[in-house]
Formats: sequence, C-alpha cells, structure tokens
Amino acid sequence: MVHRERAEFVHTGLPENYYELTELHVHVGSGVSPEIMWFLAHSQGIKTTGRNYWKFLETITVQPGKIKSLNDYLKLFDITELIQSSPEAMEQSVYSIVGGAYRANLITRLELRFNPMLRNRGGERDLDHIIFASIRGMERAMLEYPVEAGLIFMLDRSRFSKELNEVILRKAIKYKDRGVVGIDIGGPRKDDFRLGDYADLYAEARKAGLGLTAHVGEVSGEDIACAVQELGVDRIGHGVHAAWDESLLRLIRDKDVVLELCPTSNLETHAVKNTDELAFAVKRFLEEEVKFTINTDGPEMLNTSLRNERHFLLHEGILNEEQLWQCEQWAREASFLSAVG
Ligand SMILES: [Zn+2]
Repeated sequence: MVHRERAEFVHTGLPENYYELTELHVHVGSGVSPEIMWFLAHSQGIKTTGRNYWKFLETITVQPGKIKSLNDYLKLFDITELIQSSPEAMEQSVYSIVGGAYRANLITRLELRFNPMLRNRGGERDLDHIIFASIRGMERAMLEYPVEAGLIFMLDRSRFSKELNEVILRKAIKYKDRGVVGIDIGGPRKDDFRLGDYADLYAEARKAGLGLTAHVGEVSGEDIACAVQELGVDRIGHGVHAAWDESLLRLIRDKDVVLELCPTSNLETHAVKNTDELAFAVKRFLEEEVKFTINTDGPEMLNTSLRNERHFLLHEGILNEEQLWQCEQWAREASFLSAVG
C-alpha cells in the first residue's frame, strides 16, 4: 500500500457527529456516476441508447421492481464493465469514485473492488495497462483529497476457470506494493462451483500479505463455513444469511471474521425479503457479537450512499448512533489498508 500521511483538516459548518467514514465494499462496476459512465461510453464510441440518456440510466441502475434475483442485478454489470474496459476509462472511473466518495460522504478510507480481467475485452487489452491505469486514477484522487484508498482484485466464481483466476491472483501479488490490498471472489452463482477448490489460491494470497474476503452468504448460508474454515478469509462480503444459523454465527465470531453488510443491496437483490428480515439479521449479529460493517456495494447503481445506508438503519430503528459508530470502528480495524505495506 502506498503510505500517505492523511492531512488533518477542518470541517467547517458540519455537525459535530459528522465524522469521517470508512467503506470496505464498493464495486467499480456499480460505483461510477451515470453521467461519467455516459461520457466514458461516448468518448470510446461505444454504442449505447442513441442520444437517450434516461434510457441509458435505466440500463445501468437498479429500477424499482425490475430486479428479481441476484443474477438479474449482476447482469447490469455487463454494460458497466464493457464501458470501463479500457485504461482511460478505468483511470477515470477509479478517480471519480474515490474523489466522489470523499466530497459527497466524507469517506476518507475506501476499498474498491473489481475484476481486472472483465475490463480487458477478453484479452484484447493488456491487463497490466488496465491495472496501472486504475492505480493512477486512485493515486490522482489521493493527491487531490486527504483520503486513503486501496484496490481489491476480484476472482470470478463461474465465468472464469481456476487458471484464469490464478492469473488475477498473480497480478494482485505483483501490484501489492502499488495499492492492491486484497482479493475477493464473486460473480454469478453456478451449481457445480466449489469454493473449497480455491483454498490454495487464498493461502498464496495470505502468504503474500494480501487481505482476504469472499462474496458468500448472500443467496444462502452455504459457502460461509467454507470461506471461513478452508479459505481463511478475514472478512465476508455480505454474509447476511449467517443470521439464521447459530453455528455459523459462532464460527464467524470465534474466528474474528468481519461481515461487510450492504443493506440496500441485500434488499434489492432479495438476499433478505424485507426490512424486518434485515433488522432480524442485524439483531442476531449484535446478540452473538459478530462484527459487521456498513457498506453500499455500489452506490450509483443502487441509488444510495454510505450516509444514506446509515441514515436508513437509524431511521428504521435497526441501529442507534452508538452502534453506527461501533460499525465505523470495526470497519477501520478490519480495513486492509493498514494491513498491507
Ligand atoms: Zn459486492
């Protein structure tokens, strides 16, 4: 990780409890604002929706009632990933997310995740160029704003072979000292996929000093135990389904694994049926002393923000101010930004 002293600065006119925030779970594919995506699509000559910006907006953001499953949601990434598939687009994308998160939400520690191999047009673009451009975008934002940021490289659980995923791991290790702080695995679910097959790649990442997380516990509780026991993850992307399994809750707590909770995302993708189920899950985490953090998953695609997620939990009576502050502290402690260096 590139170390940068964070300048102390004065927030003028902000309420006293408006503290700096940490966000651990944001995808580049769902984090860039639509007008920048529009600009990037047109500047690369990508065919979109003619001159109809509003129609374009519908293709890259969650529309009320349109998403029936997690896989429906993931399909939105096909277009955003295509638009971001060039060094220029990735530099601009990462730069805009980091700067935007600071300006709009006072997020001063941000971890951004993406699959570099879903940004190179099936091998047409050079992977190192894509990665370098992402790092450049991140560093530009860090020069302009008092923020710390890091990149998490994502492996894909169904569209890539293990060999391809291994290439991504090699790149994560190669760029570890340039700002890549961890690995993750995600993407559409497939029945014959075995998460345990990735134990060796995760062990290698761990040995290299990278942080480990995995998208599990979003559709069911199934892969959570495997991620914790066989992959040895530090954190879990989502993990909300652990709430309905006492043994999983105990396992997560005993191994000091931290959940990256994404409330709006979980509601929109039907990971939880409604706010009551979400409230139940959070209550169980608190009761069983499972550490969790608040995240957006993808603020632009989901029409939300980190402050909005926190406000929602507060407003619904799911967490109080003190508990929200506790989540922020857990996020700071569980961040990969300080673990690598
Ligand atoms: Zn995610």
